[in-house]
Amino acid sequence: MKDRPDQLAAAWSDLVETARRTVADGLVVGTSGNVSCRLKDLILVTPSGVPYDRLGPHDTTAVDLEGRQIIGHLRPTSELPMHLAVYRSTPAGAVVHTHAPHATAVSTLVTELPPVHYMAAALGGPVRVAPYALYGSDELAGHMLEALRDRTGCLLQNHGTLTYGDSLDQALDRTAQLEWMSRVWLLAHSVPGRTPAVLSPAQLDAAGTRLGGYGQPNGARG
Ligand code: 13P
Ligand code: ZN
Repeated sequence: MKDRPDQLAAAWSDLVETARRTVADGLVVGTSGNVSCRLKDLILVTPSGVPYDRLGPHDTTAVDLEGRQIIGHLRPTSELPMHLAVYRSTPAGAVVHTHAPHATAVSTLVTELPPVHYMAAALGGPVRVAPYALYGSDELAGHMLEALRDRTGCLLQNHGTLTYGDSLDQALDRTAQLEWMSRVWLLAHSVPGRTPAVLSPAQLDAAGTRLGGYGQPNGARG
């Protein structure tokens, strides 16, 4: 990819923009969370502990699928094991990890986010919670991968969220949907004496099928 500097620069700029949006959208505070995207065999990642508004074109950070640093002088995110696990096991083009507040609150209460809304189908079904493990550990990456089975997102117990997608926009949108669904469930669940209704697997399947044709045909914008 070093022979395609324009493509690399554009991907890095998109990645930094996405990381900044996680802060602007209230999905993380400070340098929490991390973002990555894939360019063939190269994984571009946010560096560990560097404020996203300070990242410029010369801070490009990239590793290979084994985690060896290929580009950059800044240390890659501490959550490299999670990001690499996703790229090794799925066709992901991008991965977003956040500490979104409602999703993190839900991760302390249940082992699966009850499917109170059909948008659960946009992540492949009811979203699981990966059991707690130390941040940055291989153990956490293993738990996350199990929770991700047949899903494009999961919660990390007492920690946050992880979603992936074909693109940075899709991965970030899935995080926003997951945070929003977590908020809806917390709201409904906190009404005294009432239990929120949940959707059946058949209802979620039907929503998933319909979502496959959601929006404008052939990418038209109307
Ligand atoms: P990094 O700054 O190393 O990416 O870590 C942030 C984080 O969210 C760890 O779980
Ligand atoms: Zn984290």
